[in-house]
Amino acid sequence: MHFKTAYLKLTLFYVLIVMTISIIFSVVIYRISSVEIDRGLGNQTRALREMPHSNNPFIDKLEQIRDTQLEESNNRIKLNLIYFNLLILVLSSVASYFFAKKTLEPIEKAMEAQNRFTADASHELRTPLTAMKTETEVNLRDKNLNLSDAKKLLQSNLEEIDKLEYLSSALLKLAKYDNETKKDFERINLAEVIEFAIEKVDKLANQKSIVISAKLKKVEMLADKPSLIELFVILLDNAIKYSPKGSKVTVETKKTDHHLKVIISDQGIGIKKSDLPYIFNRFYRADISRSKEKVDGYGLGLSITKRIVELHGGTITANSKIGKGSEFTIHL
Ligand code: ADP
Repeated sequence: MHFKTAYLKLTLFYVLIVMTISIIFSVVIYRISSVEIDRGLGNQTRALREMPHSNNPFIDKLEQIRDTQLEESNNRIKLNLIYFNLLILVLSSVASYFFAKKTLEPIEKAMEAQNRFTADASHELRTPLTAMKTETEVNLRDKNLNLSDAKKLLQSNLEEIDKLEYLSSALLKLAKYDNETKKDFERINLAEVIEFAIEKVDKLANQKSIVISAKLKKVEMLADKPSLIELFVILLDNAIKYSPKGSKVTVETKKTDHHLKVIISDQGIGIKKSDLPYIFNRFYRADISRSKEKVDGYGLGLSITKRIVELHGGTITANSKIGKGSEFTIHL
């Protein structure tokens, strides 16, 4: 509703501009043409008056005809200009509505996405808060609450606080990368960055006896080092999270003349074809990770990776087969 009035207002504004120009032109055209006609007819009568027998009453009659002709011509021009302006009004209204829609549609879509994001974020933030509140209330009402129960409550609350901490930091990262520019880029060694990221997820991989094998080429590039580390940590973390114990995760860099590819592949649960187009959307989680495998997460990691890759002028794509594994490719 809000945007419907905006469409109309903008259309009206465009029409007003077009019609003001059109009316100014029409007035100028009217003035010029009536002056020219007047001058033309005036010259004719003057020429007749200069002829012999110029006191002929026929010439007086001619002057009368000239005046009526002038008035008629002026009226005809006026009428034509009115028709012309009406036509311009109709055409400009249609065109203005079209352009107003074209101008406002992307803004409307961005606002819708922003609203959806805010609603999703609030929902996700509220869930752990509600759990903490309910648990605390129930325990406070319990007259026989002992130290062990209280410790259990605190432990459970701590888990919810961890979730809230993770969520708010992920949301802050998204906001941060949305506004970041290339100005703080430094020269980095990509292999070193990836190795650093592997070290960060090493503990998690060991817990699941997952081996990370890296085939890295020495490549130097301009980049924002902390965000690149973050990018590889998220992708490796996912590869480990969504893979069975004892499987293998591979990181490989490939270099061509103009491009650089980093491929991270796993032998995990895979992603359904129907989920693939959406996994980079904020808060999107494939059903399989929500229900069957019950892996913790909020669906924010991949949207952060997408933003980081875009910041570096690259693209990220995913390929996957259910039950076989997934492959994420970053083109830089
Ligand atoms: P999450 O916090 O849920 O892991 P992400 O944005 O990192 O959020 O990932 C979005 C969804 O994509 C995940 O919920 C999961 O379903 C799927 N996904 C991401 N990486 C993998 C992977 N390596 N293997 C299988 N599924 C994955």
